[in-house]
Order: sequence, then C-alpha cells, then structure tokens
Amino acid sequence: MTKIPMTVPLVELDGDEMTRIIWQQIKDTLLLPYIDLKTEYYDLGLPERERTRDQVTVDASHAIQKYGVGVKCATITPNAQRVEEYKLSQMWKSPNGTLRAILDGTVFRAPIMVRGISPVVKNWKKPITIARHAYGDVYKNTEFKPAGPGKAELVFTAADGAETRQTIFDFQGPGVLQGMYNTDASITSFAHSCFQYALSTGQDLWFATKDTISKQYDHRFKDIFQELFDAQYKPLFEKQGITYFYTLIDDAVARVIRSEGGYIWACKNYDGDVMSDMVSTAFGSLAMMTSVLVSPDGKYEYEAAHGTVTRHYYKHLAGEETSTNPMATIFAWTGALRKRGELDGNRELANFADRLEKACIDTIESGVMTGDLAGLWEGETPARKVTTQGFLDAIAQRLDA
Ligand code: NAP
Ligand code: MG
Repeated sequence: MTKIPMTVPLVELDGDEMTRIIWQQIKDTLLLPYIDLKTEYYDLGLPERERTRDQVTVDASHAIQKYGVGVKCATITPNAQRVEEYKLSQMWKSPNGTLRAILDGTVFRAPIMVRGISPVVKNWKKPITIARHAYGDVYKNTEFKPAGPGKAELVFTAADGAETRQTIFDFQGPGVLQGMYNTDASITSFAHSCFQYALSTGQDLWFATKDTISKQYDHRFKDIFQELFDAQYKPLFEKQGITYFYTLIDDAVARVIRSEGGYIWACKNYDGDVMSDMVSTAFGSLAMMTSVLVSPDGKYEYEAAHGTVTRHYYKHLAGEETSTNPMATIFAWTGALRKRGELDGNRELANFADRLEKACIDTIESGVMTGDLAGLWEGETPARKVTTQGFLDAIAQRLDA
C-alpha cells in the first residue's frame, strides 16, 4: 500500500504521562501505516522542558508560527508536588499558557458526538463550540476589602500625567471592591480568532456580553467585534453563507439551551470559563472534548481538552493494561492533518482525516469503547469495553475495511 505523502511538516508537540503513551500508540496504529508522516518534533515532556529550561516550549511555539499547524499532546503543568516528583529546578509555567501568549490565540473547545451517548439537553444534535477570551477581566483583577467607611474612587493617570477621577462608592461600612481591565489589542485579537475560526469551520458565530449593564466595558467588546465584522469579515461570511450574531448574554443562554447546536459561542473570559464546563459536562465526557488554539493571523494548534490522565499512568507503570480514551487525542491529529491538507492542497491527507474520524465514531457506535464511555452508553447493543490498544486496533480494522 502506498502511503499518503506530505509536503509541509506538522509541528508535533509530545507530552507527559498516559497521554504520551497513547500518543505513540496512535502514531504506530493509526498514522504511520497510512501516511508518510512528516513532523517537526518537539518534546514538551516535563524532563525535556527541565533540561532545556523550557526553551523547547518557546521553540515549538515559533515553529507553529512558521508552519501554521501544530498538534499537541497533554502536558503536566507543574505544581509544588510535581517540582518534587520531577526534581525540577523551578516551577515551569503552563506550556499552554506559553503557547497562547506567543501565538496570541483563542481556545475553541468542541465535543465529539456519537450516537448512543446523548447530551443531557435532548435537542442538541450538533456540537457547540465555546470560544473563551483567555485574557484579563476578573482573572487579572485587583481586589480590596475596605474595613470601614470611606470613599472608593477610580483614578486613571494618563502617560502625560493628566488625571481622571470617578467615585465608585461611598462606603458607610465594610465591604468589597475590585478593579479589572482589558485592552483593545487583546479584544481585537480575540475577535479576529473567532471570525477566522468561524470561516475555517463554516459555522455561525454568536457573541454575547452584558452590555446593557456594562455600558462601557462590555460595550467595548461588542463594538470591536461589530467594527471588525463590518470592515473586514462581512463579505466573507456572506460568501460562505454563515452569520455573525450578537445578543445579550441572558438571551444567549436561553437560545443555547433551545438550539440544536452547530455554532461557535464566543464568550468573555469568565463566561467562557463557566459555560465551557457546563456545555462540556452536558455533552457527556471530558475525554470526548477537543480543543484548538487559533491565532488572530490564522495559525492552529490542536489538542485534547483533558490532561495527562495521571491515575491511569500509574496503573500503566504498575503493568496494568488501561482503558484510557484516545478519542480527543486522535481528533487533535485529524484536525491538524486536515488543516495541513487544506493549506497544502493535499486532498488525500484531508480525506484521510475524515475517514479516520468516521472510523473512530463508527467503532464506538458499533458498541466498542473505552471504560469511561461504557458507563454512559445508551446504545442498543451492549457496550464492549476494550483497552486503549484494543480500541485503536478496532479503529484500524475499520479503516482497512
Ligand atoms: P485529567 O488528566 O484530564 O484527568 C482527570 C480525570 O478525568 C482522570 O483521572 C480520568 O478519570 C478522567 N479522564 C480524563 N481524560 C480521560 C481519558 N482520555 N480517558 C479516560 N478518562 C479520562 O486531569 P487532572 O487529573 O486534573 O490533571 C492531570 C495532569 O494533566 C496535571 O498534571 C495537569 O497539569 C495536566 N493537565 C494538562 C492539560 C493540557 O495539557 N491541556 C489540561 C488539563 C490538565 P478516572 O481517573 O476516574 O478514570
Ligand atoms: Mg472552569
């Protein structure tokens, strides 16, 4: 069998623990037999991040900027316990944070849907993609607890020294106070990423804030989105038959629940944090949630939304076969391969990504799945729980057929 050729390499970012094991299994079972796989490999596993003083993460981010498409395995974000466990010289920053900062990107999360595992919301027929603006607002706030009466003021000192001052509140007793910010630059990047991703996936884009109450702060978000849309994206959306739609966040939540899915819901930082947990839980399983970082200039980094599945890794180290779900990691690869195929005019590669995704979904729909899904299964045939490798082999069999 001749393998599918590739012209431009994918940027491959390896990771940690159970997902690192699965990474290799996926390559061996589902990719290397079919594709003449070309990747530029970066090892973001924690030992290599320690050895290179995290330079490898920075280099990988630059490689994604250069080539346009990356695929990333889950990685450990060190905490005090990890510093001990891996004898780290320092608590290296989250690789995802570093990637996001360098690519200036927005994260889009979407569930993989299969028949037999139904969303809690019965009318959701298609995935809902959440785009979270992961910068500023309450995550970078300054808080203060006035202990007693006093006047709180908002003071802004311009670069030239000019001062503006507004009373926030005249406290008659103790209370709480917070200041937060965002920047036009960051909101603009967020908006570009959202418009780009809507065009790239052919889905409508929804955006919602509380601009009726937050007449300057949230209204700025609304205006920036609208200005960019009118100035640049409107004709492209019309050409593709998709729409951009702004509404109040209260209205958006009601519409989301009544909808059948199939669109991107862009959220401010806090809304995205909360809503992505709600939406992903309602769709079923963390192991079925995909994630892609999209930069405002259209660079893509695909990954699974879950972590390194530590508990399963320790079982694996103890010699046990695990039934860890590889779906989101496989879909990170197919997302990246399809995008590479589109960019390079490599139809065969994009078609392979489609066929592999279909083989994965058909395998689960036939009743063959990992343990996490078996408990959620509502299909007619009883679920057959298999190991990770057993699941990958079943997918390969379908791919070959
Ligand atoms: P996690 O790795 O996502 O795992 C949490 C639990 O969810 C697992 O113990 C498992 O439950 C279930 N689960 C997640 N993915 C699964 C899969 N593919 N198949 C089957 N079950 C799955 O989150 P965590 O335990 O909070 O974090 C572990 C490490 O991952 C941490 O070091 C963290 O820093 C890192 N992390 C990385 C990323 C990233 O790279 N994007 C994201 C999140 C966390 P059961 O044990 O009950 O089976
Ligand atoms: Mg959250």
